[in-house]
Amino acid sequence: MISKHWEEAIAPLVALSYEGDIIGVNHAFAEMLGYSTDELTQQHIEKVMDNGAKFVFNSILYPKLRMEKKIQEIYLTLQHKNREPIYVIFNAQVIEPEHIIHCFVVPMSQRMEYVKEIRAINKVLKETAEEKTRLHEELVIVNRELKFYAERDFLTKLYNRRIFMKKAEQTYEKFQQSNRLFSFCILDVDFFKQVNDQYGHHMGDEVLMGLAEEMRNYFDSSCTLARFGGEEFIILLPDKNEKEAYEIADQFRERVKLQSWHGVSVTISLGVNMVSYPSEVSDIIVGADRALYKAKANGRDQVML
Ligand code: GH3
Ligand code: MG
Ligand code: MG
Repeated sequence: MISKHWEEAIAPLVALSYEGDIIGVNHAFAEMLGYSTDELTQQHIEKVMDNGAKFVFNSILYPKLRMEKKIQEIYLTLQHKNREPIYVIFNAQVIEPEHIIHCFVVPMSQRMEYVKEIRAINKVLKETAEEKTRLHEELVIVNRELKFYAERDFLTKLYNRRIFMKKAEQTYEKFQQSNRLFSFCILDVDFFKQVNDQYGHHMGDEVLMGLAEEMRNYFDSSCTLARFGGEEFIILLPDKNEKEAYEIADQFRERVKLQSWHGVSVTISLGVNMVSYPSEVSDIIVGADRALYKAKANGRDQVML
């Protein structure tokens, strides 16, 4: 039943009856599992299987073999005589009409090493990819912060002068194209030097931050708010003529007067100017600044056009 060639083949081979009894094994098969050929012959194949393999063999491999007469490259764990697992690739074919099952079993010792290596590489790759994602997310946050502080005043978080001028130029272009008017309002804290002198620079900062917050709360989101200089702020009011801008500014002046930050109150003076042909953005701002100067000269705590 087992030919000489079969017996001496270097690949592990085993012949089974339809019931799973070992009809014959070659040396390579017996050796792989730590037995002599005699020890295995006439035994059931389950002798070289642990419970998991028995289950796979009986519930999957055997039915498949009966149906398809052939199975190829199924991974299976056999058991060495010393109970060590032996990982193999199992191939089998039913030989008719005797119903003998010839099995060709390839040990996977090499393969397991490769699998381990691939798993280790995959782990490194996964960790690297995760690290890359993390660094990318960090970079996005840092970039967002960089952009924020490139555009903002550090103390008040309002736009800085450069960005304000850019936005003002854009608004001016719109005015040129579609006649959408707008106004500027410059405001300056009255006697702010005294706040610093009396309460300290730190308290002065608190007042500037509080004032900025008050601006954010008061002016609607279409307005562009910026810190123009030390205690001087500027507001771009789109679609507001001089009169409307004046009203808005004056209400804000009243509102600030009623506020206090850590017990410190201030008043503000404001200058308003509306866009007009053929003046440039800088001319309109100068106009608003002159109005502010007038408000100061006139006794402060007021708005001037
Ligand atoms: P006026 O009513 O004429 O505007 O008087 P003023 O005291 O407000 O005007 P002045 O320009 O003489 O003083 C402005 C002061 O604002 C001087 C400067 O020390 C102070 N200042 C400018 N920037 C800051 C800041 O970031 N923090 C603080 N605490 N003070 C500042
Ligand atoms: Mg001032
Ligand atoms: Mg000033």
